[in-house]
Amino acid sequence: VPVPTDLDAYWMPFTANRQFKKAPRLLVGADRLYYTTHDGRQVMDTISGLWCVNAGHNRPRIVEAIRRQVGEMDYAPPFQMAHPQVFELATRLAGLFPDGLEHVFFTNSGSESVETALKIALAAHRARGEPGRFRLIGRERGYHGVNFGGLSVGGIGANRKAFGPLLPGVDHLRHTHAPERNAFSRGLPEHGAEFADDLERLIALHDPSTIAAVIVEPVAGSTGVLLPPRGYLERLRALCTRHGIFLIFDEVITGFGRLGAPFATHAFGVTPDLVTVAKGLTNGVVPMGAVIASRGIHDAFMNGPGEGIEFFHGYTYSGNPIATAAALATLDTYAEEGLLTRGPELAGFWEDSLHALRGLPHVIDIRNYGLVGAIELDPIPGQPTQRATQAFLKAYEAGFLIRTTGDTIALAPPLIAEREDLARLVEGLATILRTLD
Ligand code: PMP
Repeated sequence: VPVPTDLDAYWMPFTANRQFKKAPRLLVGADRLYYTTHDGRQVMDTISGLWCVNAGHNRPRIVEAIRRQVGEMDYAPPFQMAHPQVFELATRLAGLFPDGLEHVFFTNSGSESVETALKIALAAHRARGEPGRFRLIGRERGYHGVNFGGLSVGGIGANRKAFGPLLPGVDHLRHTHAPERNAFSRGLPEHGAEFADDLERLIALHDPSTIAAVIVEPVAGSTGVLLPPRGYLERLRALCTRHGIFLIFDEVITGFGRLGAPFATHAFGVTPDLVTVAKGLTNGVVPMGAVIASRGIHDAFMNGPGEGIEFFHGYTYSGNPIATAAALATLDTYAEEGLLTRGPELAGFWEDSLHALRGLPHVIDIRNYGLVGAIELDPIPGQPTQRATQAFLKAYEAGFLIRTTGDTIALAPPLIAEREDLARLVEGLATILRTLD
């Protein structure tokens, strides 16, 4: 496949694309664990597209379901209308969650799911007759998408800098990452549950009756696979419950089997009031997201003293038939192949393989859980991210598409990977790590 001659018309101003323009990396095909590049090479997808293609690429059942649906009914409006499959999907999705999380609102992306969850949290307090709860609490190093609500509660200063002022009434928990105490720990870090007490600081600082919600990624994905210290999420849950604050888990990355359990709520045994999902919901094939809400939140809208107040929210493509068909076929695939609970079968092997990289040059930490992993490299002074970029380019040459974030290589292979695939990946990475400057 020829490289297009004019690369300038495609404008990607918000991404680091200089290097890309010099040596375009174009993907022209995908099947299961592999992409085909424009120059005909096969590269292993080690990040499931972008944490989304959990069942691997080009799965016939999903492709066929989309084809069939396009031919039957392409679109149906989601306001005062619906189509039958959207009820089926909502029921099946809710059925994947612990009791009490049982109502589903559809969106079209992770960012939209976050905006929706924040708005549901604010509106539910109003519906319950507590209009004074307006504050939203995120966490440093949290990533919640690129729209204004998610950007505000997100904890990446560099992402926010160009766009302020953002939402008022937002504060952030300190992040939980303490590599000096947890370096090379396997699975969840043992130390650091007390980071959750930072919520007490914020509660003391702001009257708790003004706080609407706390939003966290159970595992912070985009900032380098930062795992919650053992007991941390439980403590957050207890504090939120005590003070009437909704707890939101952003499971856009952690959902759909990534952690070796269907969702982080199962993996860590903590049930939030709202969950955001996207990505793996349709296996990344078409855009779709969702918010799963607790019975209590749903009932506040239906029966609370604020009943009758108008809460307008919804998207043109909420629950559209094509995405719904893709999601149903995706859930069928996950169920049939046991992918949402495949973790335990692979997690031990994955952990041992990754931790065998300890001691290679520049490797300063290795993290793992379920089928997610991270290899953190020591930054080159004055040139942070340079080493990871070098690893990315070498890996691509060697036949692996990896994702780097800061100086960390983040890994999230499709859940259909076999041990041999994981072994190949880790061996490939070892070779690359040995050659880094
Ligand atoms: N939340 C989390 C935790 C994410 O990882 C992402 C995307 N990486 C988003 C929200 C935003 O999702 P999207 O890019 O689909 O808007």
